Amino acid sequence: MFNFSERMRGVHLDHRKRSRMNQTVFMPSPATVEISLSQHIGAPCEPLVAVGDSVFVGQKIADSSAFISAPIHSSVSGRVSGITERLGANGRMTRAIVIESDGLDTPDPSIAPPKVNDQASFLEAVRNSGLVGLGGAGFPTHVKLAAKNINTLYINLAECEPYITTDNREVFEFATDIIDGIRTVLKYTGIPKAVIVIERNKPIAAQILSELCADIETVSIKVIGSRYPKGAEKVLVYEAGGPLIGRGKLPADLGVIILNVSTVSYIAKYLRTGMPLVRRRLTVDGDKIKNPGNFSVAVGTSAGALLDFAGIDSSQINMLLAGGVMMGSCLIDLDTPILKNTNALICLERYASRNKTPCIKCGRCIRVCPIKLMPAAIEKAYDRGDVQELKALDVDLCINCGCCSYSCPAKRDLSHKNQLAKELLKNAK
Ligand code: SF4
Ligand code: SF4
Repeated sequence: MFNFSERMRGVHLDHRKRSRMNQTVFMPSPATVEISLSQHIGAPCEPLVAVGDSVFVGQKIADSSAFISAPIHSSVSGRVSGITERLGANGRMTRAIVIESDGLDTPDPSIAPPKVNDQASFLEAVRNSGLVGLGGAGFPTHVKLAAKNINTLYINLAECEPYITTDNREVFEFATDIIDGIRTVLKYTGIPKAVIVIERNKPIAAQILSELCADIETVSIKVIGSRYPKGAEKVLVYEAGGPLIGRGKLPADLGVIILNVSTVSYIAKYLRTGMPLVRRRLTVDGDKIKNPGNFSVAVGTSAGALLDFAGIDSSQINMLLAGGVMMGSCLIDLDTPILKNTNALICLERYASRNKTPCIKCGRCIRVCPIKLMPAAIEKAYDRGDVQELKALDVDLCINCGCCSYSCPAKRDLSHKNQLAKELLKNAK
């Protein structure tokens, strides 16, 4: 059993939340979108349209019968011009539906607010919306909400990665939707209470939500310190006074579920409009960016089209990340499309050299690990291919936070090795 009992592990990072006060800019739909069929944790979807079909905005174009999945909708109106293979922003090679926009953004005429009057119709509506965790995880939301015997809903407003401010903007622009979404979830799932967990570096957001929650007995605010990775689910729940989510346990096993703040806010929007998840907000920032910002972007827009719209010269970028600098994926192609769970594009001119040297046994990687793992030992066990040792070292509990690599003076790729070790262990099983 691991625990977080010592004073907080993790690392202090420079927050660089430069875009937090910048109003979200609406990016018009591009001429072409490529909509990936794998935009969530779980089974990829199968296309429901063929080349040559006309589609509307919000029309369902792909779905799966698997329990852990979410349908996918067109983000533009136009014509399907192809179904291609594409390396996604999540690093997975998947099929994608290519749609040429007609420039009209005509909504699907069948779109209407869903009729919701009990838990079953609520969960069906959330599934039909195509909603997945918008904080980056991409877990289908209706599956999370179907859990039984939950006593606390935690709302994640940690946003602990540097640069990213999209959740912070959600509070500034749609605070009432956040509260409406929380109350709706509590009403239809029977969860008795919700706790909004906010990192201390967002005092204005905390104040706005505190005022809105002042008269709501079932919703409270918990402010936690701002040290990375407080937004990781296990860390967040524990820091907010919830249970320790130990080996082999899911949050729901211990009576809690966690939703990102933009995810719960979207539930209110969907129930009001019936428009499925076809756009999302993402932060564009980085060391080379003079004017960072947040942009509302059609799902399937290419990273390159967004950078052009944001006025960023991509030839100046040496590294482009989808997601944060600690947990994001490095993009190798500007044509990579934005997914439902892509919360940022981070453009870096400079990045740390990873010329690794031998381990000096300083123990920093162990001291910073929020799960109390032993990354240096995991690396050695992986290099030996020692599956039994990897199991004994609990590598499957690694949350990919990257703190070990960040802290290592020998610049060893510990976090990356952990991912490879997890795969090795999974395949051995
Ligand atoms: S990446 Fe894994 S091993 Fe490294 S600090 Fe994070 S949880 Fe610990
Ligand atoms: S932080 Fe790096 S050098 Fe220090 S013990 Fe861990 S792997 Fe070795």
